[in-house]
Amino acid sequence: MEKTVWNTIDREKAYDFASDYITFLNKSKTERLCTDYSLYLAEKKGFTELDNVKTLKPGDKVYAVNRGKSIVFAIIGKDDILNGINLVAAHIDSPRLDLKPNPVYEDLGIAMAKTHYYGGIKKYQWTTIPLSLIGTVVKENGEIVEVNIGEDEDDPVFTITDLLPHLAADQMSKKMGQFMSGEDLNAVLGSLPNDDEKDKVKGAILALLKDKYGIDEEDFISSELVFVPSFMAKSVGLDSSFVGSYGQDDRVCAYTSFEAILNIENPEKTCVCYLADKEEIGSMGSTGTKSRFLETFAAHLINSVKGGYNELYLKDCFSASKCLSADVTAGYDPNYKSVCEEQNSAYMGGGLCICKYTGARGKSGTSDANAEFVGEIRRIFNSNNVKWQIAELGKVDQGGGGTVAQYIANMNIETLDCGVPILSMHSPFELASKADIYMGYLGYKAFLESK
Ligand code: MN
Ligand code: MN
Repeated sequence: MEKTVWNTIDREKAYDFASDYITFLNKSKTERLCTDYSLYLAEKKGFTELDNVKTLKPGDKVYAVNRGKSIVFAIIGKDDILNGINLVAAHIDSPRLDLKPNPVYEDLGIAMAKTHYYGGIKKYQWTTIPLSLIGTVVKENGEIVEVNIGEDEDDPVFTITDLLPHLAADQMSKKMGQFMSGEDLNAVLGSLPNDDEKDKVKGAILALLKDKYGIDEEDFISSELVFVPSFMAKSVGLDSSFVGSYGQDDRVCAYTSFEAILNIENPEKTCVCYLADKEEIGSMGSTGTKSRFLETFAAHLINSVKGGYNELYLKDCFSASKCLSADVTAGYDPNYKSVCEEQNSAYMGGGLCICKYTGARGKSGTSDANAEFVGEIRRIFNSNNVKWQIAELGKVDQGGGGTVAQYIANMNIETLDCGVPILSMHSPFELASKADIYMGYLGYKAFLESK
């Protein structure tokens, strides 16, 4: 069984779209970098900060940044905003290895960095690959230091070692989920000693950090430094029909929905594109979807459009609003067919994928979209020549997962999961089909522009 849409779409446009997407991926390996880069692109397209605007009229384009890690864009529609907004919500955090608050130590003459993984990973996949160290350090005096080591061609990189097969008899006899612990994910920082008696190599590494970045060891405490794969996004396959990259969950849906709103003028409904943080660890916190940030943004938007505000405005607006929760789904993998059910799986190159529900153990942890809204999305996609498919996240009882859909639906907004299928999800090098990526863009755009 196959469901390819390649023969019914404009291949050249799909390939062109993917090449800009690859640039975006390489500049957006963390939520902070992704926020910065999308902000840069949006300002070039005429978006201004909502805080600087007093009144808004149809066609106006605004954004708001949440603590540098999440961002929301809006274009005011011709229709009354109280009749609802069209919202696309994606997330821009991805699984990675965070530094611990006290990360640096020395053992056997090698300086090492302790990590704590962020999001669901198969730990062994993060060993023996080049890693970049990216992030923000806040010094005690409030000064902010940006760190980015490993992304430039001339930069050194970091890595986490693994055992040679020759001595792995004990390791290989363990169950896959148990043969590595989180405490084994320590990265190599260096080996040049200085002249001190104690901690010679650690001291030398800390001196290098002080010299290059002005960072003291204690400054790690107030930092967000993360290891991400150093390799760059590339086309994959002899025909270059896939994109391979770190962080496509969920930057593939973030980019396609963001590009959609960048290319909309004078929409009927007010369009909103929300790029959230913290989805991979449960959407909690001030920058996650469970925070009041989206509500606050919408309240300000309504106030600037209506020239006044009361509590019912936001409630009426949200209860009439519609949302596509733009997150990736599991692609049907020829190497691992047994975990999927062929009639309800997401085929690579099968188009943008609707998931009526996600969840696990009998749909637990999903909002399960209303049939009426799924029907409406079918109509919108079909009448705009968007190639799409519908799938479940694997076989019943095989596992499962969740997205931000449930949190948005809980705001009394009609919500449906809809995203790009991915192979090797949560690995350092995830795969997406250029056909599905392009259909993501067309699908989100058609939805945002719908009446
Ligand atoms: Mn995701
Ligand atoms: Mn994920």
